[in-house]
Amino acid sequence: MAEVVLSVRNLSVSFNTPDGVVHAVNDVSFDLQAGETLGIVGESGSGKSVTAGSLMRLNNSVTATTTGNVVVNGVDVLNCTEDEVRGIRGQDIAMVFQDPLSALNPYYSVGAQIAEAYQVHHADASKDEVEQVVIDMLTKVGIPHPETRLHQYPHQFSGGMRQRIVIAIALVNKPKVLIADEPTTALDVTVQAQILDLMMDLQRETNMAIILITHDLGVVAEVARDVLVMYGGRVVEKASINDLFVAPTHPYSWGLLGAVSSLEDLQRGHLKTIAGTPPSLISIPSGCAFHPRCEFYEGVGSRCSSEVPELRTISSGQSMSACHLDDVQIVSIGKSKVLQ
Ligand code: SF4
Repeated sequence: MAEVVLSVRNLSVSFNTPDGVVHAVNDVSFDLQAGETLGIVGESGSGKSVTAGSLMRLNNSVTATTTGNVVVNGVDVLNCTEDEVRGIRGQDIAMVFQDPLSALNPYYSVGAQIAEAYQVHHADASKDEVEQVVIDMLTKVGIPHPETRLHQYPHQFSGGMRQRIVIAIALVNKPKVLIADEPTTALDVTVQAQILDLMMDLQRETNMAIILITHDLGVVAEVARDVLVMYGGRVVEKASINDLFVAPTHPYSWGLLGAVSSLEDLQRGHLKTIAGTPPSLISIPSGCAFHPRCEFYEGVGSRCSSEVPELRTISSGQSMSACHLDDVQIVSIGKSKVLQ
């Protein structure tokens, strides 16, 4: 069995705001093994990015309350000192952000930014060693003429090239876990495919684990082994990528899969959607947060609107679902939705 490199237990994050408490993440748990790619999917506001930020303790503002455990390489990120967490960031767990232009500093050359990330964990490295590491990383992520280009600034690179540089910064210390938060959203489809290929190649080389956060089911289908579907700050389905597409077990997943448009739909200008809008995380609906949008909602006074469904294993297989429908209903409706 592969080594567990990240273990998350009962992670909850809330923020105090002038409008009320935002319950951004509620009771999220999962493990990640070396070499594994885990997709986290859901609409905007489902808690994906806050979950990702918490894994590196990036949400530690005065307004945030974070509880639970996030263990990386034997250290509990949420309950260690600032020095310990600085030692883990970049070295054991690193992050690629959505927009490479705002992730890079426009005042420094790209070489200086990769060098800085390396020197944080290799303070004794000589100038020549650091320069060689920068050239090697630029070569690895496919930047041509790295000896010259390391002296250039972010604005001198295309969007795809900038994302490659952000990946170089994230990987320069060979982290065990890479969090990629919508890494291809700002890129066109050709460059998107190149960046995903690059991440998978680097994963094969280093055996790092990847958490890929996206709203794009096509992207997860291409690269992930397992997937968490999030809604209203909770995990509502946990499945292998194959099971999610062949036998999904939650009404929200059925809606997400049903909203993937075919070429025919696009030609007809007919985009499929899930009725309603995602909930405000300040006033999450009672019981199952999805109930105002769920076609299987059993009405006022039912468990759907009064009891938060527990994430449980569905008897037909390995998938876990947080829904009050019984297993027989879930399996038969799930199958019929896939066939539609
Ligand atoms: Fe729909 Fe009820 Fe299941 Fe929620 S618990 S997804 S409202 S059937």
